[in-house]
Amino acid sequence: MSLIYKSTRNAEETATASVAILKGLAGEGGLFVPETIPALDVSFEELAKMDYRQVAYEVMKLMLTDFTEEELKYCIRSAYDEKFDTELIAPLVSHAGAEYLELFHGKTIAFKDMALSILPYLLTTSAKKNHIENEIVILTATSGDTGKAALAGFADVPGTKIIVFYPKNGVSPIQEKQMVTQKGDNTLVVGITGNFDDAQTGVKKMFQDAELNQWLDSCGYQFSSANSINIGRLVPQMVYYVYAYTRLLAEGKIHAGEKINIVVPTGNFGNILAAYYASNMGLPVNKFICASNDNKVLYDFFTTGTYDKNREFVLTTSPSMDILISSNLERLIYRIAGDDAAANLTLMKSLNEKGVYSITDPMKEQLSSFYGNYASEAEVAGQIKKVYESDGYIMDPHTAVASRVYEKYCKDTGDTETVTVIASTASPYKFTRSVMNAIDRSYDTKTDFELADELSKLSGIPIPQAIEDIRSAEVRHKTVCAKEDMETIVKSFLAPNLFQK
Ligand SMILES: *Cc1c(COP(=O)(O)O)cnc(C)c1O
Repeated sequence: MSLIYKSTRNAEETATASVAILKGLAGEGGLFVPETIPALDVSFEELAKMDYRQVAYEVMKLMLTDFTEEELKYCIRSAYDEKFDTELIAPLVSHAGAEYLELFHGKTIAFKDMALSILPYLLTTSAKKNHIENEIVILTATSGDTGKAALAGFADVPGTKIIVFYPKNGVSPIQEKQMVTQKGDNTLVVGITGNFDDAQTGVKKMFQDAELNQWLDSCGYQFSSANSINIGRLVPQMVYYVYAYTRLLAEGKIHAGEKINIVVPTGNFGNILAAYYASNMGLPVNKFICASNDNKVLYDFFTTGTYDKNREFVLTTSPSMDILISSNLERLIYRIAGDDAAANLTLMKSLNEKGVYSITDPMKEQLSSFYGNYASEAEVAGQIKKVYESDGYIMDPHTAVASRVYEKYCKDTGDTETVTVIASTASPYKFTRSVMNAIDRSYDTKTDFELADELSKLSGIPIPQAIEDIRSAEVRHKTVCAKEDMETIVKSFLAPNLFQK
């Protein structure tokens, strides 16, 4: 049975999985969504005997039906290998009354590695299957982590180029250093004088610009997206929720069929949507707990049914969640609108034009398995300190948002019995200063690398290779531009000869 993907904005536009991966975005700004989500065809007992790669195959084969077994196993094998610092790939650890699913054991020590280590293989395999001769240009906007993870995934992959835009003053010093030191002749990293939404809007515009796309084609290029709107990002993210469930089962912490809670620190809504898709596949979930920082657009949406991005944009210690437009939420909106592209389009137009939309009561009723809340900056710092002091576990600020929101959920609902998995999305080493300051303000006088040494002393966890690598690396990318100049930068990178004066 082959699974078809449809656009959230046009009922007529369909694609196979490989075409949806190649295109990234559907026409008119729509997102590709699976027409149905097939049920898992192996039991959880069977899955509990498998390793990460085997579980990945069982989940992904159902979503990417036009990949052969050989192709898919090749992609999985190439992605989930020694790049990760543990064979478990995504270890599940118990601390302070919850199960932390550590998604930060890849190359850039954050959860985006989970999908971006496999996307280049899914993409080049998709190109081959569809007889594409153009070189693929990955164009992406990042609030910090996607950028480095995408760069690390695509650097020196033949037949690809990658261009990353990031908000010049909106990422952590370590995030920035990681990106601007990126090696590989096919890579370009550019800071823009604006916030993440400016970068993302600029990138979306270029994807939709027919003239620009024609120009690319004439130069032998075509755009594709590595952003979390690509289904090649979403599908690999479904895997670790199923995997976490099988570990709980294998450890006897739950029985097969028992429902769990899943808490996800959320920005673009990709990671939590993957959990929702996994539940559509048969993963037993009680609540999806959507955790926001001070940019609490999603909390307001889940409590009122109105999505309103007209508000002040707040820079927080969890920059990868500093987002006012959660792009992947559109996929959930489409679903609860009864897979109605026209209804979804009306809402998205309203978002585009007025910055706000409200869903209907029948749509709202379908959100009963979601719980939203948020954690303020003081709460995040307090949570890091509290869990460290009571348990010895040191969390990054994104994970701490989730951890704090889980506490609020327990208090609000009285549900303290359901086994709960918290997506732990970054290593504390990626946000050392915020983490160490939360534990003790007097650390603030130290340099970033001294702080890494101190963190290692406190946690007993060795400094990851990703941090050691940038201690001495040379800055290779120095371009900074205004948001209006993004297109010119792209063109001059791809066709430098045309731009020599
Ligand atoms: C990207 C990111 C998030 C948010 O994930 P979404 O899929 O955008 O909701 C949370 N934490 C970290 C560390 C991230 O890099």
